[in-house]
Amino acid sequence: MTRSTCPYCGVGCGVILTPVANGIRVKGDPDHPANHGRLCSKGTALGETVGLSGRLTTPLVKGVETNWDAALDLVAARFRDTIARHGPDSVAFYLSGQMLTEDYYVANKLMKGFIGSANVDTNSRLCMASTVAGHTRAFGADTVPGTYEDLDQADLVVLVGSNLAWCHPVLWQRVEAAKTTRGTKIVVIDPRRSVTADAADLHLPLSPGADVAVFNRLLAAIADRGLTDAGYLTHIEGAEAAVAAARADLAETGVAAALLDRFIDLWCATPRVVTVFSQGVNQSTSGTDKVNAILNCHLATGRIGRPGMGPFSVTGQPNAMGGREVGGLANQLACHLALENPDHRRAVGRFWNATRMADRPGLKAVDLFRAVGDGRIKALWIIHTNPAVTLPEADAVRAAIAGCDFIVVSDVTGATDTARLAHVLLPAAAWAEKSGTVTNSDRTISRQRQVIAAPGQARPDWWMLAQVAQRMGFAGFDWPGPAAIFREHAALSGIAGRFGRDFDISGKARISDAAYEVMDPFRWPFTAQRQGGRFFADGLFFTPDRRGRMVAVTSRPPAAMPSEKRPLRLNTGRIRDQWHTMTRTERAARLNRHLGEPFIDLHPADALQLGVAPFGLAEVTSDHGRAVLRVVLTDRVGRGQAFAPMHWSGETAPTGRVDALVPGALDPVSGQPELKAATVSVVPFPARWFAFAASAHEFTPGSAYWARRVTESGYAAELADLTAPPDIEAFARRLFDLPEAQVIRSDDHARGLATLALVDRGRIGALLFSGPAPVALARDAIIARSGAPVLPGSLAPRARADQPDNGPVVCACTGIGRNRITAAAQAGACDVAAIARATGAGSNCGACRPEIAALVAAISSPTPSPAIAAE
Ligand code: SF4
Repeated sequence: MTRSTCPYCGVGCGVILTPVANGIRVKGDPDHPANHGRLCSKGTALGETVGLSGRLTTPLVKGVETNWDAALDLVAARFRDTIARHGPDSVAFYLSGQMLTEDYYVANKLMKGFIGSANVDTNSRLCMASTVAGHTRAFGADTVPGTYEDLDQADLVVLVGSNLAWCHPVLWQRVEAAKTTRGTKIVVIDPRRSVTADAADLHLPLSPGADVAVFNRLLAAIADRGLTDAGYLTHIEGAEAAVAAARADLAETGVAAALLDRFIDLWCATPRVVTVFSQGVNQSTSGTDKVNAILNCHLATGRIGRPGMGPFSVTGQPNAMGGREVGGLANQLACHLALENPDHRRAVGRFWNATRMADRPGLKAVDLFRAVGDGRIKALWIIHTNPAVTLPEADAVRAAIAGCDFIVVSDVTGATDTARLAHVLLPAAAWAEKSGTVTNSDRTISRQRQVIAAPGQARPDWWMLAQVAQRMGFAGFDWPGPAAIFREHAALSGIAGRFGRDFDISGKARISDAAYEVMDPFRWPFTAQRQGGRFFADGLFFTPDRRGRMVAVTSRPPAAMPSEKRPLRLNTGRIRDQWHTMTRTERAARLNRHLGEPFIDLHPADALQLGVAPFGLAEVTSDHGRAVLRVVLTDRVGRGQAFAPMHWSGETAPTGRVDALVPGALDPVSGQPELKAATVSVVPFPARWFAFAASAHEFTPGSAYWARRVTESGYAAELADLTAPPDIEAFARRLFDLPEAQVIRSDDHARGLATLALVDRGRIGALLFSGPAPVALARDAIIARSGAPVLPGSLAPRARADQPDNGPVVCACTGIGRNRITAAAQAGACDVAAIARATGAGSNCGACRPEIAALVAAISSPTPSPAIAAE
């Protein structure tokens, strides 16, 4: 039994891992302060993601297996030669919030202290950069003031641009618990009526990008009602200008006046208020201003750093905070020290014995890949991330990577859109195979511990980076293990502490290997004088004069406005059960059962006008790319708006690469791209043939549209094409690579439906259901037939009489589907708790509870809501 940390989101839940015969048994750690034993669907399914299928286990150079010495020598030589010929800014690292702090530290030290460039950026740029910039403008440092306990102690939780129930489910459980125990009110500010909004006391469906206008209205009301905290404002600069700017900001919010007034009244009347914000705020061309608009309201009222009060950014990634601590962004140094400050640079350089310190910021993510595209960057090392899918203008980014002189990718798999373009592929240890630390959204540093051996030649990232550094001739990279790196990082933070910076864990600088091994989670700062808690209640900030700043901000619209050519505003985001580009979550079959293919949410009235049909396919086009997505009609999005998730890639649905649609428009301060306000056109995709395929074995469709997923019995895929295959039997044999299989076939000539079972050695090797329109099927029941003997009803589109039809999965933790929940509701279970008692659904992580509530409401209401009917 080993204590570790969930490697997905920024909540940073503690897990207890026990290796078992077919993987790892996972349960929530009751002693971890982030989750107290709770886990969400993704964390619960962690043990199902550790198999060796698809793992990269050997270094590859141009696709040919080699050994570590040859691969590392090549990487070191190509970086050294490129730097010698073109200078240090001709090379770059692109890192990930998935990396452990120790890995991050080594990459940052190598690039900024020895290569002499700051071209080291991270996918946290896509996630949190606007918060970093907003914090730094207001506080003088990138400090998260609050803690998770504040969520337990708040009387009002305002969620801005955050679908907390799906994206940070364990924090959502804490908010739900506070609502139950102390009556905490919940307000959701989001253009989309997310499942989180369903459970809120108040939902403000603001116009996309109108967050500054909403919080400026609030700030003006605070000032007008005399609710500013005069005592606290003696610690703050800029209050007058910020209030004047707020009063002058008359931009439309899109929220009905009465609703906005109710929110303002509630906020003003509730001292214990926590404003939680996430990607809906950050991923914007005015993201930094949005952050400061929120911070302004808390600073004006002194509602910061005290129990149950404060602005609270929740990070998307498991170690976005650790990356920020080591200085993993191109405009940071280390330990929250400033790259532009010569004293800070000198001190860090001395500490590192640096041979060539970077002296100016490097390229931020979007600009970095533009430099790859135009040849300024000639050697790039990408670690644990998939920029060919996740960067805006993803098709152009993919082309830039493909055209770069030298690409190194270290990852756990070579089967990603990015890894397939690498010249050198380095096999990395996965989350359960390596050791180090991560920092969650409330500054709690937790150990991630190795629990199983890395397969083949897979190695941790810090080791690869340190090996390359040594082979480039640099000293100071010969650590025996992650504990030594942690000690060095902690000691460096002591220098930051002496400069009066916030990040100081020097109290851990002498930790022994044995103590590091058993180190409990702790929240920084961690010094002899100060440990753990909240920041800024004392009115002391990290600016030169120790005063905080209210920043005057004014509303700005998103970079692109809808037009006749691109009439819809596209919002992108996550779904409940998938993580990033699905390289891990896709391996857990149960996580693929909730929402199994890429889709676009459209308002029914827009869909009618555009001529796209529910469950049909839509072709979505922007000035930068194209996608084909399944149509879901729902009033969760307003007229003129659309939503599509960002998870699918060339590996799982080649036309589902949603970030190919998104422009690379940037926040001028943070460099964060506007991932939630693309403008697109939508037309019906002219498919004339649709199919559902299930197989006991992996297969790769080649049709114009396909989306494939792992299932409990193999693989399944949705397919569509412009014309039907002329010979469906030959097509099926090729598709499933079963040339000798016996084909059992059933045709409904009137409706043009053809159903085929390919029987291989007496068992169903694969099934194909096809027709001229999307086919209604009991998909889970059909998937269960793969690999089973042929029985009467094996070709039926519905579940057999002896097979209960669970319906589409609602609760991923228990696998309970819509049909069972509906049946329980019809039998008298009248609320979420009763459904949990009757079926188990909703009894674990709670992320599905809003959906269950909606299903129950639909049963008890004579007219189900359009959203439920559509979904
Ligand atoms: S909320 Fe879920 S994904 Fe996030 S850390 Fe906890 S278990 Fe992992």
